[in-house]
Amino acid sequence: MSSYSLYRSSIFHCIENANTLEADYYADGLMVVQHGKIVELGHYAQLIDQFSVDTRVTHFKDSLIIPGFVDSHLHYPQYRVIASYGATLLDWLNKYTFVEEQKFNDSDYAEEIAELFLDELIKNGTTTAMTFCTSHSQSVEAFFSAAQNRNLRMVAGKVMMDRNAPTGLCDDVNSSYFDSKALIEKWHNKNRLSYAITPRFAPTSTPEQLAQAGKLLAEYPNSQNTKGVLLQTHMNEASDEIAWVQELYPQSKHYFDVYDSYRLAGSNSVFGHCIHNTQDEYQRMAETDSKVALCPTSNLFLGSGLFDLDQLDYYGITTSLASDIGGGDSFSMFSVMNEAYKICKLNGSNLDPVRAFYLTTLAGAKVLNMDDCIGNFEPNKEADFVVLDLNASELIKQRLKSTTNIDDLLFCLMTLGDDRIVNQVYILGQCVYKKMEIH
Ligand SMILES: [Zn+2]
Repeated sequence: MSSYSLYRSSIFHCIENANTLEADYYADGLMVVQHGKIVELGHYAQLIDQFSVDTRVTHFKDSLIIPGFVDSHLHYPQYRVIASYGATLLDWLNKYTFVEEQKFNDSDYAEEIAELFLDELIKNGTTTAMTFCTSHSQSVEAFFSAAQNRNLRMVAGKVMMDRNAPTGLCDDVNSSYFDSKALIEKWHNKNRLSYAITPRFAPTSTPEQLAQAGKLLAEYPNSQNTKGVLLQTHMNEASDEIAWVQELYPQSKHYFDVYDSYRLAGSNSVFGHCIHNTQDEYQRMAETDSKVALCPTSNLFLGSGLFDLDQLDYYGITTSLASDIGGGDSFSMFSVMNEAYKICKLNGSNLDPVRAFYLTTLAGAKVLNMDDCIGNFEPNKEADFVVLDLNASELIKQRLKSTTNIDDLLFCLMTLGDDRIVNQVYILGQCVYKKMEIH
Protein backbone atom coordinates (compact mmCIF):
# COMPACT_ATOMS: atom_id res chain seq x y z
CA MET A 1 0.00 0.00 0.00
CA SER A 2 1.33 3.41 -0.94
CA SER A 3 1.86 5.99 1.80
CA TYR A 4 1.82 8.80 -0.72
CA SER A 5 -0.95 11.38 -0.77
CA LEU A 6 -1.55 12.85 -4.20
CA TYR A 7 -3.26 16.19 -4.84
CA ARG A 8 -4.31 17.20 -8.32
CA SER A 9 -5.15 20.86 -8.91
CA SER A 10 -3.79 24.06 -10.36
CA ILE A 11 -0.77 24.72 -8.16
CA PHE A 12 1.31 27.85 -7.65
CA HIS A 13 4.28 28.68 -5.47
CA CYS A 14 7.29 30.99 -5.63
CA ILE A 15 10.82 29.79 -6.14
CA GLU A 16 14.11 31.65 -6.10
CA ASN A 17 17.01 30.87 -8.38
CA ALA A 18 20.17 32.82 -7.59
CA ASN A 19 18.01 35.42 -5.83
CA THR A 20 15.72 35.77 -8.86
CA LEU A 21 12.06 35.32 -8.05
CA GLU A 22 10.10 32.97 -10.28
CA ALA A 23 6.47 31.91 -10.41
CA ASP A 24 6.26 28.10 -10.58
CA TYR A 25 2.78 27.36 -11.87
CA TYR A 26 1.04 24.19 -13.03
CA ALA A 27 -2.40 24.62 -14.61
CA ASP A 28 -2.98 20.88 -14.11
CA GLY A 29 -0.51 19.99 -11.42
CA LEU A 30 0.19 17.13 -9.06
CA MET A 31 1.64 17.49 -5.59
CA VAL A 32 3.02 14.40 -3.89
CA VAL A 33 3.09 14.35 -0.08
CA GLN A 34 4.49 11.70 2.24
CA HIS A 35 4.84 11.77 6.04
CA GLY A 36 3.74 15.40 6.10
CA LYS A 37 6.38 16.59 3.65
CA ILE A 38 6.48 17.54 -0.01
CA VAL A 39 8.01 14.80 -2.14
CA GLU A 40 7.46 16.13 -5.62
CA LEU A 41 5.54 18.73 -7.60
CA GLY A 42 4.94 18.87 -11.33
CA HIS A 43 2.55 18.50 -14.24
CA TYR A 44 -0.10 15.86 -13.55
CA ALA A 45 0.38 14.20 -16.95
CA GLN A 46 4.13 13.83 -16.39
CA LEU A 47 4.05 12.55 -12.82
CA ILE A 48 1.00 10.34 -12.55
CA ASP A 49 2.42 7.34 -14.44
CA GLN A 50 4.92 6.53 -11.69
CA PHE A 51 2.07 5.69 -9.32
CA SER A 52 0.00 2.51 -9.47
CA VAL A 53 -3.49 2.89 -10.84
CA ASP A 54 -5.11 2.22 -7.48
CA THR A 55 -3.28 5.15 -5.79
CA ARG A 56 -5.92 7.55 -4.62
CA VAL A 57 -5.72 11.07 -6.05
CA THR A 58 -7.56 13.95 -4.37
CA HIS A 59 -8.70 16.13 -7.26
CA PHE A 60 -9.59 19.78 -6.56
CA LYS A 61 -11.40 21.17 -9.58
CA ASP A 62 -11.59 24.92 -10.24
CA SER A 63 -9.10 25.37 -7.43
CA LEU A 64 -5.61 26.69 -6.81
CA ILE A 65 -3.24 25.19 -4.26
CA ILE A 66 -0.78 27.66 -2.74
CA PRO A 67 1.58 27.45 0.24
CA GLY A 68 0.06 28.44 3.59
CA PHE A 69 0.44 32.15 4.24
CA VAL A 70 3.10 33.36 6.67
CA ASP A 71 2.09 36.36 8.79
CA SER A 72 5.29 37.79 10.25
CA HIS A 73 3.89 40.40 12.64
CA LEU A 74 0.68 40.40 14.66
CA HIS A 75 -0.71 40.34 18.19
CA TYR A 76 -2.95 37.49 19.30
CA PRO A 77 -4.10 39.33 22.47
CA GLN A 78 -5.57 42.01 20.23
CA TYR A 79 -8.10 39.58 18.71
CA ARG A 80 -10.93 41.57 20.35
CA VAL A 81 -9.28 44.97 19.77
CA ILE A 82 -9.71 44.76 16.00
CA ALA A 83 -11.95 47.48 14.52
CA SER A 84 -11.45 50.00 17.37
CA TYR A 85 -12.49 53.46 16.26
CA GLY A 86 -10.79 56.75 15.76
CA ALA A 87 -7.30 56.55 17.25
CA THR A 88 -3.71 56.86 16.10
CA LEU A 89 -0.98 54.59 17.41
CA LEU A 90 -0.20 55.96 20.88
CA ASP A 91 -3.76 56.76 21.97
CA TRP A 92 -4.95 53.50 20.37
CA LEU A 93 -2.50 51.63 22.63
CA ASN A 94 -3.70 53.42 25.77
CA LYS A 95 -7.39 53.50 24.96
CA TYR A 96 -7.91 49.97 23.67
CA THR A 97 -4.89 47.69 23.66
CA PHE A 98 -3.48 48.18 27.14
CA VAL A 99 -6.98 47.73 28.57
CA GLU A 100 -7.53 44.43 26.76
CA GLU A 101 -4.03 43.06 27.34
CA GLN A 102 -4.47 43.25 31.13
CA LYS A 103 -7.08 40.48 30.85
CA PHE A 104 -4.33 38.03 29.85
CA ASN A 105 -3.27 37.82 33.46
CA ASP A 106 -6.02 35.19 33.51
CA SER A 107 -4.87 31.91 31.91
CA ASP A 108 -8.41 30.84 31.05
CA TYR A 109 -9.00 34.05 29.13
CA ALA A 110 -5.65 33.69 27.34
CA GLU A 111 -6.50 30.10 26.36
CA GLU A 112 -9.91 31.12 25.01
CA ILE A 113 -8.47 33.90 22.85
CA ALA A 114 -5.53 31.75 21.67
CA GLU A 115 -7.97 29.16 20.28
CA LEU A 116 -10.19 31.77 18.62
CA PHE A 117 -7.15 33.47 17.13
CA LEU A 118 -5.75 30.24 15.68
CA ASP A 119 -9.17 29.34 14.26
CA GLU A 120 -9.28 32.69 12.51
CA LEU A 121 -5.73 32.38 11.14
CA ILE A 122 -6.44 28.93 9.73
CA LYS A 123 -9.75 29.87 8.09
CA ASN A 124 -7.87 32.68 6.36
CA GLY A 125 -5.20 30.28 5.09
CA THR A 126 -2.43 31.50 7.40
CA THR A 127 -0.49 28.49 8.65
CA THR A 128 2.50 30.21 10.29
CA ALA A 129 2.63 33.46 12.24
CA MET A 130 4.91 35.34 14.58
CA THR A 131 2.80 36.87 17.32
CA PHE A 132 3.34 39.14 20.26
CA CYS A 133 1.78 37.88 23.48
CA THR A 134 1.33 40.12 26.54
CA SER A 135 3.78 40.73 29.36
CA HIS A 136 2.21 37.80 31.28
CA SER A 137 4.05 34.48 30.92
CA GLN A 138 0.69 32.68 31.00
CA SER A 139 -0.30 34.41 27.75
CA VAL A 140 2.69 32.73 26.08
CA GLU A 141 1.97 29.38 27.71
CA ALA A 142 -1.62 29.52 26.47
CA PHE A 143 -0.58 30.35 22.92
CA PHE A 144 2.18 27.76 22.60
CA SER A 145 0.00 25.03 24.12
CA ALA A 146 -2.79 25.76 21.67
CA ALA A 147 -0.40 25.89 18.70
CA GLN A 148 1.33 22.69 19.74
CA ASN A 149 -1.98 20.82 20.03
CA ARG A 150 -2.63 21.74 16.41
CA ASN A 151 0.88 20.89 15.17
CA LEU A 152 1.31 24.42 13.87
CA ARG A 153 4.59 26.13 13.05
CA MET A 154 4.35 29.29 15.15
CA VAL A 155 6.55 31.92 16.76
CA ALA A 156 5.64 33.88 19.89
CA GLY A 157 7.15 35.78 22.77
CA LYS A 158 6.40 37.49 26.06
CA VAL A 159 6.20 41.27 25.75
CA MET A 160 8.98 42.98 27.71
CA MET A 161 7.65 46.31 28.98
CA ASP A 162 8.79 48.07 32.14
CA ARG A 163 7.60 51.66 31.72
CA ASN A 164 4.99 53.91 30.11
CA ALA A 165 2.21 51.34 30.45
CA PRO A 166 -0.36 50.46 33.15
CA THR A 167 1.08 48.83 36.27
CA GLY A 168 -0.81 45.62 35.50
CA LEU A 169 1.16 45.25 32.28
CA CYS A 170 4.62 46.28 33.44
CA ASP A 171 7.30 43.76 34.27
CA ASP A 172 10.76 44.78 35.46
CA VAL A 173 14.30 44.37 34.21
CA ASN A 174 14.98 41.14 36.07
CA SER A 175 11.60 39.44 35.77
CA SER A 176 11.39 40.16 32.03
CA TYR A 177 14.79 38.55 31.51
CA PHE A 178 14.19 35.49 33.69
CA ASP A 179 10.58 34.93 32.57
CA SER A 180 11.61 35.15 28.92
CA LYS A 181 14.52 32.79 29.51
CA ALA A 182 12.29 30.23 31.23
CA LEU A 183 9.86 30.37 28.29
CA ILE A 184 12.72 29.93 25.81
CA GLU A 185 13.99 26.88 27.69
CA LYS A 186 10.51 25.38 27.74
CA TRP A 187 9.25 26.14 24.25
CA HIS A 188 11.95 27.19 21.78
CA ASN A 189 12.56 24.58 19.06
CA LYS A 190 10.00 22.27 20.68
CA ASN A 191 8.17 20.51 17.86
CA ARG A 192 7.31 23.31 15.42
CA LEU A 193 7.48 26.21 17.89
CA SER A 194 10.03 29.00 18.08
CA TYR A 195 10.53 31.79 20.56
CA ALA A 196 10.93 35.49 19.80
CA ILE A 197 12.34 37.88 22.38
CA THR A 198 9.71 40.62 22.40
CA PRO A 199 10.45 44.12 23.70
CA ARG A 200 7.23 45.87 22.65
CA PHE A 201 9.03 48.98 21.40
CA ALA A 202 11.67 51.38 22.69
CA PRO A 203 9.27 53.76 24.51
CA THR A 204 7.96 51.03 26.86
CA SER A 205 11.36 49.66 27.81
CA THR A 206 14.04 51.26 29.96
CA PRO A 207 17.58 51.20 28.56
CA GLU A 208 18.37 48.56 31.18
CA GLN A 209 15.59 46.30 29.88
CA LEU A 210 16.72 46.65 26.27
CA ALA A 211 20.24 45.74 27.42
CA GLN A 212 18.86 42.56 29.03
CA ALA A 213 16.94 41.74 25.83
CA GLY A 214 20.21 42.07 23.89
CA LYS A 215 21.97 39.82 26.38
CA LEU A 216 19.25 37.20 26.03
CA LEU A 217 19.40 37.33 22.22
CA ALA A 218 23.16 36.76 22.35
CA GLU A 219 22.66 33.74 24.62
CA TYR A 220 20.61 31.85 21.99
CA PRO A 221 22.35 32.38 18.60
CA ASN A 222 22.07 30.25 15.47
CA SER A 223 24.48 27.34 15.50
CA GLN A 224 25.22 24.55 13.09
CA ASN A 225 22.42 22.32 14.35
CA THR A 226 20.14 24.72 16.17
CA LYS A 227 18.19 27.79 15.20
CA GLY A 228 18.60 30.68 17.58
CA VAL A 229 15.73 32.64 19.05
CA LEU A 230 14.19 35.45 17.02
CA LEU A 231 13.49 39.00 18.10
CA GLN A 232 10.38 41.01 17.26
CA THR A 233 9.60 44.63 17.95
CA HIS A 234 8.19 47.81 16.40
CA MET A 235 10.02 50.68 14.75
CA ASN A 236 9.29 53.95 12.93
CA GLU A 237 5.53 53.43 12.81
CA ALA A 238 4.18 56.88 13.73
CA SER A 239 5.64 60.40 13.82
CA ASP A 240 4.79 61.11 17.48
CA GLU A 241 6.24 57.73 18.45
CA ILE A 242 9.54 58.64 16.75
CA ALA A 243 9.69 62.02 18.50
CA TRP A 244 9.05 60.26 21.82
CA VAL A 245 11.91 57.84 21.20
CA GLN A 246 14.22 60.81 20.55
CA GLU A 247 13.20 62.28 23.91
CA LEU A 248 13.67 59.01 25.78
CA TYR A 249 16.95 58.08 24.09
CA PRO A 250 18.58 61.47 23.40
CA GLN A 251 22.00 59.94 22.88
CA SER A 252 20.82 57.79 19.95
CA LYS A 253 21.36 58.84 16.34
CA HIS A 254 17.92 57.57 15.34
CA TYR A 255 15.28 54.98 16.27
CA PHE A 256 17.14 52.00 14.81
CA ASP A 257 20.29 53.13 16.61
CA VAL A 258 18.48 52.54 19.91
CA TYR A 259 17.98 48.85 19.08
CA ASP A 260 21.35 48.57 17.39
CA SER A 261 23.22 49.95 20.38
CA TYR A 262 21.57 47.38 22.68
CA ARG A 263 22.60 44.51 20.35
CA LEU A 264 19.06 43.91 19.13
CA ALA A 265 19.85 44.23 15.42
CA GLY A 266 20.76 41.22 13.29
CA SER A 267 19.59 38.44 11.01
CA ASN A 268 17.20 36.96 13.60
CA SER A 269 15.55 40.32 14.32
CA VAL A 270 12.27 41.38 12.70
CA PHE A 271 11.24 45.02 12.86
CA GLY A 272 7.57 45.79 12.30
CA HIS A 273 6.52 48.79 10.19
CA CYS A 274 9.71 50.76 9.30
CA ILE A 275 7.58 53.36 7.55
CA HIS A 276 9.55 56.49 8.39
CA ASN A 277 13.10 55.15 8.11
CA THR A 278 15.95 57.55 7.34
CA GLN A 279 18.56 56.59 4.74
CA ASP A 280 20.99 55.91 7.54
CA GLU A 281 18.52 53.51 9.15
CA TYR A 282 17.99 51.58 5.91
CA GLN A 283 21.75 51.43 5.48
CA ARG A 284 22.37 50.14 8.98
CA MET A 285 19.51 47.63 8.76
CA ALA A 286 21.08 46.25 5.59
CA GLU A 287 24.54 46.08 7.18
CA THR A 288 23.17 44.12 10.13
CA ASP A 289 20.95 41.88 7.93
CA SER A 290 17.94 42.91 10.02
CA LYS A 291 14.52 41.91 8.67
CA VAL A 292 11.32 43.89 8.08
CA ALA A 293 7.62 43.09 8.42
CA LEU A 294 5.50 45.65 6.57
CA CYS A 295 1.94 46.09 7.82
CA PRO A 296 -0.13 47.90 5.17
CA THR A 297 -3.64 47.33 6.56
CA SER A 298 -2.55 48.54 9.99
CA ASN A 299 -0.69 51.55 8.62
CA LEU A 300 -3.77 52.70 6.72
CA PHE A 301 -6.20 51.88 9.54
CA LEU A 302 -4.23 53.87 12.15
CA GLY A 303 -3.21 56.53 9.62
CA SER A 304 0.46 55.88 10.34
CA GLY A 305 1.84 56.49 6.84
CA LEU A 306 3.05 54.81 3.66
CA PHE A 307 5.98 52.41 3.67
CA ASP A 308 8.56 52.51 0.89
CA LEU A 309 9.12 49.04 -0.55
CA ASP A 310 11.40 50.42 -3.28
CA GLN A 311 13.81 51.78 -0.67
CA LEU A 312 13.85 48.45 1.17
CA ASP A 313 14.59 46.72 -2.15
CA TYR A 314 17.27 49.25 -3.01
CA TYR A 315 19.11 48.42 0.21
CA GLY A 316 18.50 44.68 -0.24
CA ILE A 317 16.65 44.30 3.07
CA THR A 318 14.70 41.04 3.47
CA THR A 319 11.08 42.11 3.75
CA SER A 320 7.72 40.43 4.24
CA LEU A 321 4.08 41.47 4.60
CA ALA A 322 2.07 41.10 7.80
CA SER A 323 -1.42 41.80 9.15
CA ASP A 324 -0.51 43.45 12.50
CA ILE A 325 -3.79 42.34 14.07
CA GLY A 326 -5.41 44.25 15.84
CA GLY A 327 -3.97 47.53 14.43
CA GLY A 328 -4.58 45.78 11.13
CA ASP A 329 -8.24 45.36 10.31
CA SER A 330 -8.17 41.96 8.60
CA PHE A 331 -6.75 38.50 9.19
CA SER A 332 -6.79 37.92 5.44
CA MET A 333 -3.42 38.08 3.70
CA PHE A 334 -5.40 38.83 0.53
CA SER A 335 -6.43 42.11 2.15
CA VAL A 336 -2.84 42.71 3.25
CA MET A 337 -1.62 42.24 -0.35
CA ASN A 338 -4.43 44.40 -1.68
CA GLU A 339 -3.56 47.33 0.61
CA ALA A 340 0.17 46.85 -0.05
CA TYR A 341 -0.57 47.23 -3.76
CA LYS A 342 -2.40 50.50 -3.13
CA ILE A 343 0.39 51.87 -0.94
CA CYS A 344 2.92 51.09 -3.67
CA LYS A 345 0.55 52.78 -6.15
CA LEU A 346 0.47 55.94 -4.02
CA ASN A 347 4.28 55.81 -4.07
CA GLY A 348 4.21 55.66 -7.88
CA SER A 349 5.09 51.99 -8.33
CA ASN A 350 3.30 48.71 -9.02
CA LEU A 351 3.47 45.71 -6.70
CA ASP A 352 3.80 42.72 -9.00
CA PRO A 353 1.27 40.01 -8.00
CA VAL A 354 3.86 37.22 -7.94
CA ARG A 355 5.96 39.41 -5.64
CA ALA A 356 2.93 40.05 -3.44
CA PHE A 357 2.37 36.31 -2.97
CA TYR A 358 6.11 35.90 -2.41
CA LEU A 359 5.99 38.53 0.36
CA THR A 360 3.22 36.59 2.13
CA THR A 361 4.73 33.10 1.72
CA LEU A 362 8.41 32.45 1.00
CA ALA A 363 9.62 35.90 2.10
CA GLY A 364 7.69 35.52 5.36
CA ALA A 365 9.47 32.21 5.87
CA LYS A 366 12.83 33.86 5.16
CA VAL A 367 12.15 36.65 7.63
CA LEU A 368 11.40 34.03 10.28
CA ASN A 369 14.49 31.98 9.34
CA MET A 370 12.23 29.10 8.29
CA ASP A 371 12.66 29.01 4.52
CA ASP A 372 14.39 25.65 4.86
CA CYS A 373 11.10 24.10 5.99
CA ILE A 374 8.12 26.22 4.80
CA GLY A 375 7.23 28.98 2.31
CA ASN A 376 6.99 26.97 -0.91
CA PHE A 377 6.68 23.42 -2.24
CA GLU A 378 10.30 22.45 -2.74
CA PRO A 379 10.95 18.76 -1.95
CA ASN A 380 11.27 17.91 1.74
CA LYS A 381 9.53 21.06 2.94
CA GLU A 382 6.60 20.69 5.29
CA ALA A 383 3.23 20.24 3.58
CA ASP A 384 1.34 23.26 4.96
CA PHE A 385 -0.91 24.33 2.11
CA VAL A 386 -4.17 25.99 1.21
CA VAL A 387 -6.76 25.00 -1.38
CA LEU A 388 -8.48 28.05 -2.85
CA ASP A 389 -11.91 27.58 -4.40
CA LEU A 390 -11.95 29.81 -7.46
CA ASN A 391 -15.74 29.49 -7.74
CA ALA A 392 -16.55 30.44 -4.16
CA SER A 393 -17.13 34.07 -5.03
CA GLU A 394 -19.36 34.75 -8.00
CA LEU A 395 -17.44 37.94 -8.80
CA ILE A 396 -14.08 36.16 -8.80
CA LYS A 397 -15.54 33.31 -10.85
CA GLN A 398 -16.78 35.75 -13.49
CA ARG A 399 -13.64 37.89 -13.44
CA LEU A 400 -11.44 34.83 -13.96
CA LYS A 401 -13.22 34.00 -17.23
CA SER A 402 -11.06 36.65 -18.89
CA THR A 403 -7.84 35.55 -17.19
CA THR A 404 -5.14 34.22 -19.44
CA ASN A 405 -2.08 33.89 -17.25
CA ILE A 406 -0.98 33.26 -13.66
CA ASP A 407 -0.08 36.90 -13.01
CA ASP A 408 -3.59 38.03 -13.83
CA LEU A 409 -5.10 35.19 -11.79
CA LEU A 410 -3.00 36.10 -8.75
CA PHE A 411 -3.76 39.80 -9.09
CA CYS A 412 -7.46 39.05 -9.22
CA LEU A 413 -7.19 36.92 -6.06
CA MET A 414 -5.15 39.46 -4.10
CA THR A 415 -7.61 42.19 -5.02
CA LEU A 416 -10.92 40.34 -4.62
CA GLY A 417 -10.02 37.38 -2.40
CA ASP A 418 -10.90 36.84 1.27
CA ASP A 419 -11.69 33.92 3.59
CA ARG A 420 -14.62 32.84 1.39
CA ILE A 421 -12.22 31.35 -1.16
CA VAL A 422 -10.14 29.46 1.44
CA ASN A 423 -11.73 26.06 0.93
CA GLN A 424 -9.38 23.68 2.74
CA VAL A 425 -6.23 24.03 4.81
CA TYR A 426 -3.62 21.30 5.33
CA ILE A 427 -1.03 21.13 8.10
CA LEU A 428 1.80 18.62 7.60
CA GLY A 429 -0.34 16.96 4.95
CA GLN A 430 -3.40 16.63 7.19
CA CYS A 431 -6.60 18.50 6.41
CA VAL A 432 -7.41 20.69 9.43
CA TYR A 433 -10.05 22.96 7.95
CA LYS A 434 -12.88 22.58 5.46
CA LYS A 435 -15.10 25.51 4.70
CA MET A 436 -18.70 24.82 5.50
CA GLU A 437 -20.81 24.25 2.46
CA ILE A 438 -23.93 26.37 2.59
CA HIS A 439 -26.70 25.40 0.21
ZN1 LIG B 1 2.37 45.40 16.00
